[in-house]
Parts: sequence; structure tokens; C-alpha cells
Amino acid sequence: MMMPFDQARLQIISGAGAKGPACFVVETSGPRLMLDLGYGPQPGLWPDVDGVGHIDALLLSHGHADHAGGLRLRPKVGNPPVWATAIVARGLPPGVPAHVLPLNGTADVLGVRVRSGRSGHAPGGIWLHLDVGGGLLYMGDNSSESALYAADPPPPAATVIVDASYGHYDTPLEECQARIAHCIDRGPLLLPVPENGRGPEIALYLDQAGLGPPHLGEVMRNALERLATTDSECLRPGVANRLAMLAAQAPAIGGARGVMLANRADGASGEAAELLAHWGASAEPAIVFTGYLPPGTPAAELTASGRAQYLRWNVHPRLSDNAVLVRATGAATVVPAFGDAKCLPDWQRAFAPARVMLQGPVRL
Ligand SMILES: [Zn+2]
Repeated sequence: MMMPFDQARLQIISGAGAKGPACFVVETSGPRLMLDLGYGPQPGLWPDVDGVGHIDALLLSHGHADHAGGLRLRPKVGNPPVWATAIVARGLPPGVPAHVLPLNGTADVLGVRVRSGRSGHAPGGIWLHLDVGGGLLYMGDNSSESALYAADPPPPAATVIVDASYGHYDTPLEECQARIAHCIDRGPLLLPVPENGRGPEIALYLDQAGLGPPHLGEVMRNALERLATTDSECLRPGVANRLAMLAAQAPAIGGARGVMLANRADGASGEAAELLAHWGASAEPAIVFTGYLPPGTPAAELTASGRAQYLRWNVHPRLSDNAVLVRATGAATVVPAFGDAKCLPDWQRAFAPARVMLQGPVRL
């Protein structure tokens, strides 16, 4: 039976004040719920869950490693069952018991009413709204700019954990696209991308902007096909057919020709790693990384040496997107997650009159 838990508080285990693994705990008079249990994105970065105690359920916003890559820590918090969308649950390690959350709907998690909606960021990715205290909205990672992944409007909440990964950054995605289009005009271009995030978004953009079709690595091609078929519920209307056509017709990567999309984004493994080993020391093709550059990876090293360029492709909200979200939810308290604490004054200005908190506990 679902009931309102009037007394509840939020503990920030990891994820506020710096880019790091996501892990939050919601304590109620009933169950204790964990929101995300990530790893990274810097190699070796685990959340410290030693003092957390017993958790009754672990809810996942999406399947990226910095949100769901820490599941090996579950035994330290009582081996809680996992709640995730069917698409995310499919990618969990074998033997992890999973209950299904809807892409857009309501679920009863041990008596707590949980609403979820698509977050515009990754296959199966959702925001979570918990009916505790005045309402807690956890955005996970989200974007309203994606032409590929659908984004559902979240309900009002007294407290919102926003995706502040980009700090005070406020450049529109169209500007990022224009810079990438300019690179494509100048010759062959390799884009190492994640197949379960902006990779398919970039493929769709190249196709729709008349810059494609891109040359695809096999993992990318399979990802497009999966999105167009089994995972099409997380897409914006009308997009699945274009992806299916791209998956069927786009050429393979067979030399430094055209624009090439290959996984993984940081070039540390996958098809991108093989291509970088091949082309890293030659003048062509141009190489552009479009996401976070984890220290110690080819993405960081090749951009530092000048062989590769970094041009961001937005997959997180801009400061103004978060300001709109905070106003729409009517939140009185905002926790900016995953961003650098030096942006605190910008967040305070953008989210006023809501108060901004980077440390818990937060009374809900
Ligand atoms: Zn993510």
C-alpha cells in the first residue's frame, strides 16, 4: 500500500560539488531508498558507502557507469533489490534482482509512490519523483535539447536534485553542431562516441543536416538498430524510422573517409581505441572528442597533445534549462549535482529564491 511519508530526509553520499559517481539516500519513517550507485567517471572513483547502513531498495536513473556502475558495492548496504526501467535492467550484471520502473508512469516501491518520466539523455533513462515530505525530484542526468531521446515534464516538488554537470555553461546545442559541421567541411573526421548516449544523437543530426550518412562502427550500428526497434519507446516521435534506415544503409568504417562514429567515447577501448591506435600518429583524419575527458584516457591525452580537438555536444542541461526546471517545479530547495562547487554563486543566482544546498542532510 502506498502512503505519504511526511518525515523524510536526503543524504548526499556522492555526486554534489564535483563530477563524480552518483549516490543519494532517502530516509523515511518506512524504507530507506538509495538513488543511483555509480562509479567514475574518473578511473578508480567509488562512492564511500561504508557509513550508509542498510538500504531497502536501490533505484537507478539510467545505465551510465557514473550512475549504475557501482553495483558491486551493494553487499555493503544489505544487497538491496534494484528498481530500473526494463531497458536499463537488461544491461545489469547477471544475478542482480531487478523490479521494473515505467519509462513514464507510477510505481509502488515498498510503499513509496514513485513517479518516473523519460529524461532525454540515454536509452531507458528517467527522472524519479518520490512522494516523501514535500516531494523529491531527482533528475539523474537529463537534457531538453535532444532531438532523439524524449523528455517528459516532471511534476512539482519541494526539493529538486538537478543535473548541474555543466556548471554555469549556457551554450545552445545548435552552436556545438555548427562547430562540428565546420570540421566535417574540412576533411575526414573521427568522432569517438558512446553508443548509448550522444552517439546515436550525432548520427541522427548528421543525417538530418545533410552531412551524412556517417560511417558507422559495428557497435554503433547495432545501437541504432536496437533504438529503432526494442527501445523505440524512449525516442521522440518519428525518429525510429530514420535510425532504422541509418542502421541498414550507412557505410562501414573502412579508411579515413567522411565522418566516422565509433565507440567508446574516451577511446580507452572498443572500436575507437583500435582506430586511434592506427591514426593517432598520422595527420588524418581529424579527431574530435565531444564529451567528458577522463584523466589518463586517450581522450585526455590526444586533446592535451593537440592531435585531437574537444568540442562539447550537450547531453546535460544548460544553466538556463535548470533555471526553467526549478521554476516549473516550484522547488524551495535545489541540490546541484555533478558540477563544480565553484559555480555555487551562479546556481544561487539562477535558482533564487530557492535555496541551494551542496551538503546534506536535507529535510524533505
Ligand atoms: Zn549519463
